[in-house]
Parts: sequence; structure tokens; C-alpha cells
Amino acid sequence: MSAAVPMPTPEPRDHTLDACFLGPYGENDALLERLMVEFLRDHVYWRRNFHPEDPPAIATAAAHHPDYLAFEARMRRELHQLSAALKKSVPFHSPRYIGHMASDLLLPGLAAQMLTLPYNPNNVSEDAAPVTVDMEVQVGLQLARMLGYPHDPAQPACAFGHLASGGSLANYQALRLALALKAFPVALRAAGVPELALPVDDWSAFNLAAADTIVLLEQWHAWLAAQSPEQRAHWLTRVEAERIEQRGLVGFFAAHPELRVPLVLAPVTAHYSWSKGLKLLGLGREQLHLLPTCGMRLDLAALRDTLARCAHERQPVLMCVAVLGSTEYGTIDPIDAVLAARAHARTQGVDFSVHVDAAWGGYLATLFRHEDGSLRSRAEVASDYVQFPTPAVHAAFAALADTDSATVDPHKLGYLPYGAGAFICRDHRAMALLAERADYVFHGSTPDSYLARYRSLGQFVPEGSKSGAAAAAVYVTHKVLPLDHRHFGRLPRATVRAAEAFHACAQRFALDIADQLHVLVPFAPDSNLVCLALNPRGSHSVAQANAYVRALHDTLRCDPSQPLQTKEFFGSVTSLRPQMLGAADTARILAALQLDPHSLTPDEGSDRLVILRHTLMNPYLIDHENGISYIERYFEFLGHRARALAVTASTGIPADRSLP
Ligand SMILES: *Cc1c(COP(=O)(O)O)cnc(C)c1O
Repeated sequence: MSAAVPMPTPEPRDHTLDACFLGPYGENDALLERLMVEFLRDHVYWRRNFHPEDPPAIATAAAHHPDYLAFEARMRRELHQLSAALKKSVPFHSPRYIGHMASDLLLPGLAAQMLTLPYNPNNVSEDAAPVTVDMEVQVGLQLARMLGYPHDPAQPACAFGHLASGGSLANYQALRLALALKAFPVALRAAGVPELALPVDDWSAFNLAAADTIVLLEQWHAWLAAQSPEQRAHWLTRVEAERIEQRGLVGFFAAHPELRVPLVLAPVTAHYSWSKGLKLLGLGREQLHLLPTCGMRLDLAALRDTLARCAHERQPVLMCVAVLGSTEYGTIDPIDAVLAARAHARTQGVDFSVHVDAAWGGYLATLFRHEDGSLRSRAEVASDYVQFPTPAVHAAFAALADTDSATVDPHKLGYLPYGAGAFICRDHRAMALLAERADYVFHGSTPDSYLARYRSLGQFVPEGSKSGAAAAAVYVTHKVLPLDHRHFGRLPRATVRAAEAFHACAQRFALDIADQLHVLVPFAPDSNLVCLALNPRGSHSVAQANAYVRALHDTLRCDPSQPLQTKEFFGSVTSLRPQMLGAADTARILAALQLDPHSLTPDEGSDRLVILRHTLMNPYLIDHENGISYIERYFEFLGHRARALAVTASTGIPADRSLP
């Protein structure tokens, strides 16, 4: 086990956090109710003031008609049934919920979303969302600033971001953009555009750095603008006909037989949306090359070897995905080193995009930003924590600014309602390649022209109609809590501190229960997910350990057949597979749990080690008001359960009967 982790020093309640959420007990009910009533009335006045001369179309007496009453009764009945059924929902708001990546909702976002819903804006374009589409573009800039991307729309190379239904869709958008950038110089060559300095062959065109492709794109636009209308139309058609978006993968690669379908490199810890994305784009899952990890962080030696082999075999690479906060373990890939590996691959003629999948960890970047947007040093960040951030974690966040694109989920660590993921690319000019209608119209580069262009959001995003209310929720939240360490950062700060307290408690738990169980935090947490591996004393087989952890997890998971109140705590499970962990870590973890390495077999049930996984994102894990630590209570509960289960395991008597 890693060296003993001290508890973070207790500190007084951060009173800003008190107003942020409805609260575990619904403490802020009056505040939310006031807001909802106020803004519902406001909406009604807006309707009435549209054309005050139009009289009410629904008769004043309509509410007494039997049909009206029958409809109302049916509606009420169904709503009551819905409300009753929803009582079986997962209590994400509770500090007893430390399972998946969900928690309470931020009041500014919840209120903004509910207040916007009756206006029903559609962010597909400004025609359907004159207000919220601008907010969505602003959200892109807010997130760009958080990541360290250029975020001034007066600058030609400003970033651009938009919302999507979730991180999965944002990841598909990243693939789409990377492919468009990669294939465009090849199309320019194939079309034989004169007077542009084009790469000498298809291989170098397919391996042009994204920044160089953007320069080429700008030159192409300038060249087009200088042509006569007939010539312009002619060349536009000719280039469009050569683009991968026009020809499709089959036609494009048939026309360029020396090019192979490019690979996507990602760590084995990557989210399964990457597999879905490769299927969706028609690249095929075979092109997803999963790299091994060290301590659940991308293994650099493996990345370098793969890139060297790609250079040698002339195998193009579309993208390397670095994960900032893996879904299962919260671990953070060495983004700085991935960028360095790309810089080296460039010298061998292989180039690709670096995309950061920060769907989970994106908002942790607020911890690393001063209010003026500059980066905080490691020492500045570290003063609030026991161990966080390790030098590697700080370097990863510092390197975000140099990546090509990122996915961030406001509906995860942004504490906002579902339906809000985000895609952000560092240089918005690349987006011209995704436009559904050839986007060669010049707007210049002023904040106005930038906004004007992206008000036709539907031209650039994978979706069509999309929620303007979700955009309002994210925008308002980022205004109330700007994305720096003093504002929004208070939330991730509380969660990282909670994770450190959890880690320290886990180590104490391991000592206290050592007579019954081997307990291990398998790798030091990078952020706010903490895993726990357990094996009862006397058990030496992975299958037995897994059965034990699954039985333990049965008491920690959602069970719709039981009243919610019978659950003390909610946790989740994940697993450690040797091909993910690597040989050294696998041996270390099995040895610490006194598990026989030979019991790890290819059979289902023993091919991986099942472990508990805890997401520490609830802001009320430490209840300062009543002096309760739900983290300590969790370990007390786990201790009781674990001992009872161990008794069952050794006596065969079900634990519940052996308890008084
Ligand atoms: C959650 C997650 C995703 C997928 O995001 P959705 O919003 O669920 O579509 C992708 N990548 C990572 C790292 C995630 O944690």
C-alpha cells in the first residue's frame, strides 16, 4: 500500500456551498420555490405582453367544462403516478450516495433550465433561439478559457466549443473533426488546386500538422476569394468532390491507394464511447488501438513503440486520446508526455490530433486557474490538499492548453442536469471543414463575426434540434460560478479533499479489519474516485475474492424491489484486468491481497479482480452543521457488513441470521 495518507486538516464550512444546491434535506426549498414561482409568473407576463390587445383564447369558464375537468383528472392521475414511481430513483443528492458520477444539481443551472423550458428555444440556429444560441457559444469560450485555449473571439485563432447530449457525442465530434482535418490537404492535392504550396505526396498531406492544415485552409479561402465567381464555383465543386466527407471512406481510400485507414490510439481505460465512435464513423473498431497503462495511466513506452511502428509501416494515426479522469478509476493520463510523443512522431513523418477526454475530470481544471485565467503553480494548488496534485497531475493540466480538442461534461462534475456534454476545439477555424453547407463565406475576425458564424450552430454540430434550456443552464452556472479556483473551484476542491479523507479512512479501515480482511487502495487516486480491493483472510483465489466483493456490493446497489430506505449507502464496482494493469501492478496487488496469481484465469469470473469504486463528488460528505462525516459512517457500515459476510463465508450461516 502507498505510504499512509494523513487526513486533510478540518476547516470551517464554506458558506458559498450552502447556497449552491437544493441540499440533501431539501434545505433550500424556499429559495428554489421562490425562484420558480417568480419566473413562471414572469413568463406568463411575457406572453400577455406580446400583444396585450389579443384577448384570452381559452374561455374563462373553460376550466369548469366536464371535458376540461376530465383531462385535468387524467393528467393529475398520470403525474401522481409518475411522481410516485420516481420515488424509486437513485438518491444522487444524498451524501450516502458515493456510487456513480452523479450528485446534486447546482441551483443556478436547475433554475435557469426550468425557467427557460417554457420558452422552448431550439439551439439549432438563431432563428429558433435568438438568446440561448449565443449563450451556447459563450459556454464554449468559458470552457476554452478553463482549458487554457485562446478564448478571445477577436483573435483569428480563437477556440470554439458547443454543447452536445453528452460526452459520447462530443467524442464523436472530435473524431469527425480530426478526420476532416487529416483528409482535407489530400483533397486539395487531388483537386490540383494551383498556386497553393501543397504537400509533396499523399502521405505527407495526410500527416500535416493540424495548425498547418488550418494555414492551408486559410490560404485556400483567400485564393478562392480572389477568383472570378465562375472560377470560384468551379474550384469549390472540384475540391468538394475530393473530400472524404463527399467520397466516403471507401471512395476516398480507393482514390488514394497508398494511404491506409488511420488508427485511433487510446488507453485501455478509455470510455466505451470510443468504440461506438469508431463504429459510427465507419472506421471500424479494428482501427481502435488500445494501449496498456501503468497504474491505470496511459503507458508512454507503449505509445512511443506504437508510434515508431506506425512510422515504420506507414500506418497513419488519426488521433491519440488522453483521458483526464478515467471513468472507472479517476486516473489522469500524462497529457504533457503524449504531446511530447507526438512531437517526436512528427520528426518521423507521423502526425495526428491529441484529444483530451475530460468528460469526467474537465472541471477539475478550475482548480488550476487563477481568476485572471493564468495557470496556478503546483505549490499554489497543493496548499489546499494533502497529496493532490502530484507533479504528474499538475503537468497534465498545464499541458491542456496545447492539445487540439477536449470533451467536458457539464452534466458530470459540472453538477448540471443530463443532456449537457461539451466539445471544445483549440482553433475554431478548423470547424469550417465540418460545415454542412460549404462554409467559405468570410466574416473577418471580430467578436461579432465569430458569433454571427456560430449562430448557425446546426451547420457544425452532429445534432439538429437541440436544447436551448440546457445551454442557458450551463451559461448561467458559469456566470454565477466562474471557472477558476476561487469560484467554481470550491466544488472540486471539496470533492478532492473528501477523496483524500476517504483515502486516509480507507487505510485506517484496512488496519482495523486486518484480522478478517486484506484491504488495499490499489493505486493512489489522482482525483476524486477512490477504489478499494478486498479479500477475506484465508481466501487465496480471485474467484472467491470476487464473490465476496459482489456480495458486499449487493448491499450497496440500487434494488428496485426494496424500499430505498433499507439502503445505508450506495457504492459501485469496477474490475481490474491484468492486460489493463500490466504485469508488475497485477503482481503487486494480488500479493498485497494474498491472492494466488494462478487463480487469475481466462475463465469468466476469475479473469479480473472485482473491486469497489467510490465517487466522492457529493458536496455534503462532511456535515459541518452536525459534526457527521458520512465517509467515516460509510467505513463503519462497510466494517459491519464485511465482518458479517466473512462470518457467512466461514460458517455457511447467512450473515443476517448470525447477527443479533
Ligand atoms: C462519462 C464519460 C464519457 C461519456 O459521456 P456521456 O456524457 O455519458 O455520454 C466519455 N468519456 C469519459 C472519460 C467519461 O467519464
